[in-house]
Amino acid sequence: MRLKNKVAVITGAASGIGKDIAESFAKEGAKVIIADLNLQQAAAVAQLIITQGGQALGVGMDVTNEQQVEEGVQKAIAAFGGVDILISNAGIQTIAPIVDLTYAEWKKLMAVHLDGAFLTTRACLKNMYQRGQGGSIIYIGSIHSKEASQLKAPYVTAKHGLIGLCKTVAKEGAKYGVRANVICPGFVRTPLVDKQIPEQAKTLGISEKEVIQNVMLKETVDGEFTTTADVTEAALFFAAFNSNALTGQSLVVSHGVAMQ
Ligand code: NAD
Repeated sequence: MRLKNKVAVITGAASGIGKDIAESFAKEGAKVIIADLNLQQAAAVAQLIITQGGQALGVGMDVTNEQQVEEGVQKAIAAFGGVDILISNAGIQTIAPIVDLTYAEWKKLMAVHLDGAFLTTRACLKNMYQRGQGGSIIYIGSIHSKEASQLKAPYVTAKHGLIGLCKTVAKEGAKYGVRANVICPGFVRTPLVDKQIPEQAKTLGISEKEVIQNVMLKETVDGEFTTTADVTEAALFFAAFNSNALTGQSLVVSHGVAMQ
C-alpha cells in the first residue's frame, strides 16, 4: 500500500481521470475526498469505494467558488484529520476559434482551471503547513501545457498557466516539505473528450474518425489513446515520492506527444 493513511482531496473526481485516481488511491490505502460540482455523482463514487472496503467522502464543490472550496477542505479535515495530497483535476473544454470565442467562455474556462487550482491549493496548503507533515500537490495539466492546438486557446493558456503555479508552490512549499508537480496527459477517452470529437468534426469540417486519427492521435508514436490508468500510475508515483528531490516538474504521459 503506497498511500496508507494518507488523505487525498481530488477535484473533479466524479468522472473520468479523477474518478480513476480516487478509486486507485483508495486501493493503495488513502482516504479520498471526491470533490465535484456534481454532488450526486461524487457521493455515488464515494459509496462505490466504501463498498470496496476503502474510505471516501463525497463533497459538493464548485472549485471556482471560494466559500465552497474552503468548506469542502474543512469537511475533509474534519472527517479524516488533515490533507496530505491534493489532486487539482477538475476541468472543462471549449472548442472554438479565437474570433468566435465569447469573453464569458474564456473567463469560465480560466476560472475552472486556474482559479480552481489556486483556491484548492491555498486551502490545502494552509493545512499542510499547519500540520507540519509535508504534502504533495499534483496538477492535472495536459499535452496542452506544452503545445498548442487550434480551437483551444483558453484551454492551452490555462494548462500552460498551471506549470507556473506548480513551480511557485514548489518554491514556497519546500521548507514545509510540500512538493508540487504537473501530469500532462495525452488524449484520454473520458466524457470531456467524447464531447469534443463531434464538436471538432463540425468546426473543422471533417469526420469524427478523422478527428481521432488526424487530430487527436496523429502525433502519438503508436496511434493509441492514453488511459485513465496511465495517468493514475503517474499520480501514484508523484504522491508516494517522499522528498523534495522531485518537485516543480511536469511529466508528459501521452504516447510520445509533446516530447521534451
Ligand atoms: P471529465 O469531464 O470526465 O471529468 C471532469 C470532472 O470535473 C467532472 O466530474 C465535472 O463535474 C468536474 N467539474 C467540472 N467543472 C467543475 C467545477 N467548477 N468544480 C468542480 N468540479 C468540476 O474530464 P476528464 O477528461 O476526466 O478531465 C479531468 C482533467 O484532466 C481536466 O483537468 C482535463 O483538462 C484533464 N485532461 C484530460 C485529458 C483527456 O483527454 N480526457 C487530457 C489531458 C488533460
